Amino acid sequence: MTDKKKALLLVVSGPSGAGKSSLCSRLVELFPEMIYSISCTTRAPRGTEKNGIHYYFLSEEEFNARIATGAFLEHALVHGNHYGTLKQTVFDALIQGKDVVMDIDVQGAKQIRSACAAMQDDNVIKRGFVDIFIAPPSMEVLRQRLCGRSTDSEKVIEQRMRNAQEEMKYQPYYQYTVINDNFDRALTELTEIIVGEHNKRR
Ligand code: ADP
Ligand code: 5GP
Repeated sequence: MTDKKKALLLVVSGPSGAGKSSLCSRLVELFPEMIYSISCTTRAPRGTEKNGIHYYFLSEEEFNARIATGAFLEHALVHGNHYGTLKQTVFDALIQGKDVVMDIDVQGAKQIRSACAAMQDDNVIKRGFVDIFIAPPSMEVLRQRLCGRSTDSEKVIEQRMRNAQEEMKYQPYYQYTVINDNFDRALTELTEIIVGEHNKRR
């Protein structure tokens, strides 16, 4: 997809452990021209995560400096750490006609949704904006996935489970909801959404 009139800004949110990063990484394999928006965060790398691939891992000072220069399209405090999306990366990809997918929390999605409402209709961000909520089949399954990932302490898992109750309340604001029970079926639903949204922009 390299037509800038059709380039999508796919904003994927949902509770931690719902499967967002697994689904997004499969999407960029299925759509080789799609750009994954690498966020900045002040949280420490987890497991095998690499700087510049999964996130840009920044100190609080580095993160605040980017806020000060207006580098973020959105930013939020999530589970006690700061996360933000770099405006320029997203804008450059969309201008080149490339789809962008981002895995951001419900507060960040709300900020972009509000910003779109104030934009001109021909703004690449507004034109491409598609928000998708990834829901777990149940809270019990969510807990099992967070535990099964084996990357977070019990304290972190408890915090993420508490936040999940709040995050689920944002689901009605999204254009699409995909329940990630069976992974392949959820991935198929996501690809159908992408193809459908491209067709709408013909
Ligand atoms: P998130 O990015 O939303 O925090 P992850 O993609 O890290 O979630 O997924 C959390 C865990 O659940 C990972 O161990 C992942 O392999 C697993 N997982 C994701 N989707 C499914 C699914 N449909 N069925 C079973 N396990 C899944
Ligand atoms: P994790 O620490 O598990 O990688 O991510 C925790 C939460 O932060 C997830 O809900 C994820 O979607 C969110 N997140 C990741 N990057 C960003 C970002 O750039 N902005 C916002 N607002 N949230 C983000």
